[in-house]
Parts: sequence; structure tokens; C-alpha cells
Amino acid sequence: MISFYPGPSRIYDDVPEYVKDAYTKGILSMSHRSPEFVELSKKTISLLKDRLNIPKNFTVFFTSSATECWEIIAQSLIIKKSTHVYNGAFGEKWFGYTKRLRPNCQSHKFAIDQLLNPKKLIFKTSEVICITQNETSNGTQVTREVIKSIKENNPKVLIAVDATSSMAGIVLDFKSADIWFASIQKCFGLPSGLGIMVCSPVAIVRIKQISEKKHYNSLTFMNEMMEKWQTPFTPNVLGIYLLKCVLKKMKNISVVDEKIKTRQKKWKRFFKDSVNLQLLTENLLVMSSTVIAVKGNPTLIKKIKRESKASGLLLGEGYGDLRESTFRIANFPALKKKEIAKLMRFLLPYL
Ligand SMILES: *Cc1c(COP(=O)(O)O)cnc(C)c1O
Repeated sequence: MISFYPGPSRIYDDVPEYVKDAYTKGILSMSHRSPEFVELSKKTISLLKDRLNIPKNFTVFFTSSATECWEIIAQSLIIKKSTHVYNGAFGEKWFGYTKRLRPNCQSHKFAIDQLLNPKKLIFKTSEVICITQNETSNGTQVTREVIKSIKENNPKVLIAVDATSSMAGIVLDFKSADIWFASIQKCFGLPSGLGIMVCSPVAIVRIKQISEKKHYNSLTFMNEMMEKWQTPFTPNVLGIYLLKCVLKKMKNISVVDEKIKTRQKKWKRFFKDSVNLQLLTENLLVMSSTVIAVKGNPTLIKKIKRESKASGLLLGEGYGDLRESTFRIANFPALKKKEIAKLMRFLLPYL
């Protein structure tokens, strides 16, 4: 089965070999307080920064998932109020998790086809502005330029970006926001169970000022431990090792970005003249590069999902309200050219 699910998704073919190596090298029982772990953690973070063009003075934290990052931000960086800018189910979930901890947080919703106007996104009384860069549920994205302008228009506010299904797939301008996070079962081509959070020096100053210490994963503790390349809890050491192996082989993100965008355009052309199937959005500025969302008549969508599975091609279900009327195709780097060609051949008769 080839998984085009937008996470968990296809993993790299080398992963079984990496797992075997991890077993042989004793990684699976490595203490997270040992010098060997410190070495692994240091090396993984340095490779991550190198491959993804993350500024050297940013701090990387290991968490267990992107969902955990939502909660960490709410508990450790928002005192009273945050603003959540979103157009889909993941952004809404983030807002929901935050609202339970910080009831004063507010939402700013926009339409799927709408290109955000940063001039209208000024939230001076918020401590954090939360943006879902790639909305996995409906295949839309917020561009680098928009995120940068939001930051420039709100210089005193921290900008937090959910890049769960785009980090390691497209170029992100890390300097244009303060907190970025993702989990590795999407564009990193790895099994689930590890989240990554990237913080700017300004975010680190804020962590220290707020000094929140009520939780095992309070950023205050995470930051103190990361000064020694460690975590307050026992992390997913195997996940970190696998991440190191994948990063070692990975080309610079600018090369990956080009491949992903070429494939995105191919998908756009593929559905362009279709009678039965349409992209949820055709505007290249708002269309996600890494998650292709396709809509159609629910009966046809159901048939395509069923028959693709029978042909060994797993499509992503529609998400939330869009469950019946859409399917999603991951455009993640681990998918091979010939696998995409196979899916296109399968879909051709339904166009
Ligand atoms: C998958 C996803 C999440 C949740 O990731 P977990 O690792 O399951 O916590 C959050 N946000 C977005 C945009 C996602 O695509």
C-alpha cells in the first residue's frame, strides 16, 4: 500500500535499516542523561538547522507531537490573550485547546479561497498570534510574505506558526516568526511520536520573563534542559535518531522546495480540465504545496476512496466538515515520482 495520507504518510524506504542500526548501536536503550544522548541531540539539532535554514541562534525543542506544542504555547507563552488566524479544522482545534486554558483568546477566521490581508491583522492586545501555515484539513497555506508582514505589523507580539504538514517540505522563513512547530510523520517521512518546536531568541526571552513552571513540559524547564541538549522527560530517543538519519541524507530545503512545487503544479494541471473533480482552491497563492485537497460529488469521492485502496493507493480522507466531499493527496518529499504517476494513472478515468 502506498500511503498518500497527509500524515502519517509514506515513510522513507531506508527507515527499517535505520531502526536496525539503532538496535545494533544500543540507541534503543540509551539513557537520555548520557553523553551519547547529548551528542545525538546536538548533532540532530545542528543538522536540522543546516538542512532547513534555521538561524543558528534559534533554539530547538523536542516534544511528542504538534498537539503538545499547541498546549505548551498556551500554558507557557500566553498569559491572557492570543489571536488565532485560521480557515480550517487544525487552526480551529488549536484555538479550542488554547481556549480551555486561556478563555480570553480570540479567533479570526477567514475563507478557504481568501488571501489574507496583513494590514487588517493587527492585534496589539494579544501576546501571541497563532497562524496555521499549512492547513492540512483543506489544503491551503499562508504564504511566507503574509507571515512576514503580520510580524512587521505586530512587532511586540510573538508569532507562533503551526507548520506541521509543511516543515521539511517547503522553505520557511524562520526569522519572520518566533515559534514554529511540526511533527515528524508528515514531511519528514518518519513514523509518528516526535514533535519539533523552534523558538527565536525573542521567544526565549519571553519564556524566561513569564517563567511558567506548572507543568512537566513547561517551556521554562524545557529551556533549562535544552541548555544541556536534554529534555525534562525521557524523549523519543529512537525518533530523534531516525530524524538524524533522515536529515543526514536530506538535501537543503531549497532543493526539496523546488521538487515539491514542481509536483504541486503537476497536480494543479492534472485537475485543471476535470469535469468531476476540482481542487478546493485553485489560487496558487493560497493553495498548499504539500497537501492537495480535491472535491467532488460525495458518491464519486466515496467510490474513488474505496477503489484506490483496492488498488494499493491510500488517499487521505476528507477532514472534518469536508469528510464526504473531498479527498486529500499528500505531496510529501518521501513519495516517489513513479508512485505519483501511478496515482495519476488511477485517477485519470474519474476526471
Ligand atoms: C497533523 C497536524 C497536527 C497534529 O499533529 P500531531 O503530531 O498529531 O499532534 C497539527 N496541526 C496540523 C496543521 C497538522 O497537520
